[in-house]
Amino acid sequence: MVNIKKRERATKIVSTLGPTSTSPEMISKLFESGADVFRLNFSHGTHEDHKTRYDIIRKLEIKYNRPIGIIADLQGPKIRIGNFINGKIDLINGSLFIMDSDKKMEGDQRRVSISNPEIFSSLQPGAELLLDDGKMRLIVEKNNGTSIETKVLVGGPLSNHKGINIPGTILPMSPLTQKDRLDLDFALDIGVDWIALSFVQHPKDIIEISQLIDGKAGILTKLEKPLAIEHLEKIIELSDALMIARGDLGVEAPPEDVPGLQKKIIRKARSEGKPVIVATQMLESMISSPTPTRAEASDVATAVFDGADAVMLSAETAAGSFPVEAVSIMDRIIKSAEHDDHYKLMKLQVSDQSLETDADAITAAAKQVAQTLNAAAIVTFTTTGSTTLRAARERPDVYILGLTPDLKIARRLVIVCGVHSVKTSYFQDFDDVVKNAIEVSKEEGFAIDGQRLVITAGVPFGTPGSTNVLRIVNVN
Ligand code: PGA
Ligand code: MN
Repeated sequence: MVNIKKRERATKIVSTLGPTSTSPEMISKLFESGADVFRLNFSHGTHEDHKTRYDIIRKLEIKYNRPIGIIADLQGPKIRIGNFINGKIDLINGSLFIMDSDKKMEGDQRRVSISNPEIFSSLQPGAELLLDDGKMRLIVEKNNGTSIETKVLVGGPLSNHKGINIPGTILPMSPLTQKDRLDLDFALDIGVDWIALSFVQHPKDIIEISQLIDGKAGILTKLEKPLAIEHLEKIIELSDALMIARGDLGVEAPPEDVPGLQKKIIRKARSEGKPVIVATQMLESMISSPTPTRAEASDVATAVFDGADAVMLSAETAAGSFPVEAVSIMDRIIKSAEHDDHYKLMKLQVSDQSLETDADAITAAAKQVAQTLNAAAIVTFTTTGSTTLRAARERPDVYILGLTPDLKIARRLVIVCGVHSVKTSYFQDFDDVVKNAIEVSKEEGFAIDGQRLVITAGVPFGTPGSTNVLRIVNVN
């Protein structure tokens, strides 16, 4: 029997589910090998597919008595071309190519329709269109209102429904399509923990969607538009977590800018105590190979050294031939990186951004006390998640137990670096808290008799940001 109680690493693994990961056996193996959080990708599959996977995950939770995070990732306003009469064409360098608003029109060598012609209004001559993940490049020459004339800068084979990216232009598109709205209702209905928002362009997109989510799930903003990075502070403030979606980000921004952006986003998210996921192509070659390239191993380790809360697998676990191997090797790379001196150095550099509040003072002290006493763990009691997030922001050298009576909060906290969350019974008073802390940390394998625990909580319970108690207790 695999011991899932304690992962022996702080950085979390997000695994995307897809055609290769639909059976209870496979999802169970992914979990046992190290997947902490699962992503349901609403760009693919039916509601029925997602519900099947959702139910399997919730059964696993019961089997292992561990909360598991589930992300519903909405497709968002992704622009696509329509169909071609023959299914595909060859775009010739230097030729004229027309994007047409007539959605019924079947495309040919000269023209194709587009899913969102409303974007035409903001396309000026000189604007660049990237097709099929940036493989092909067009430049707008003339805007006729209902069609756009472009010149092919870089051509190639182009088939039905390929995506279009338009970097550098704010597009007049709602952050949620009709499909997204249906998917969102469905995802909230089944009870996912996080809603991931794709192609956020502006902070107001998040405000609009958060009214629909209405606290029923955490808001996970995907950073994949360079223009969104211009409002990074505001976006982080409005989000509950962030994802560095390097796939689309690396199409819309030059790929050479992605590593620097990754570091910048992680730094800012962490200083605000918001969990951040590094995503896409992390072990890409493992879609068809049982071992990663050295560069991929290095990429996963870099995300860990940068201080990400979680790293994500996409097609590797959704559609690849070696899903379990991908999770296992990711688990090993993370553990190795976390044992390296670089990791300790990074944690020392954690921004000293404590605010002049009781909560920040108590939390910083908890880390200090835990280190001085060589405590077994920091145990945080939380009803909203905020006491635990604050502790995680300090990146202490010991595990953080996140104890909460709210199963939804326990599931949401799974994504956070260094946090082992546990659903507890309701706590009445602080004596209850102490009793609980000792019991749970022994049960879950974090402490043995004779060790010490550092406990933080906000009393009275239930007020976010009210962390105001620090207690050292002996386990026995
Ligand atoms: P996607 O998002 O997999 O939904 O496209 C991640 C990315 O763009 O990197
Ligand atoms: Mn994307």
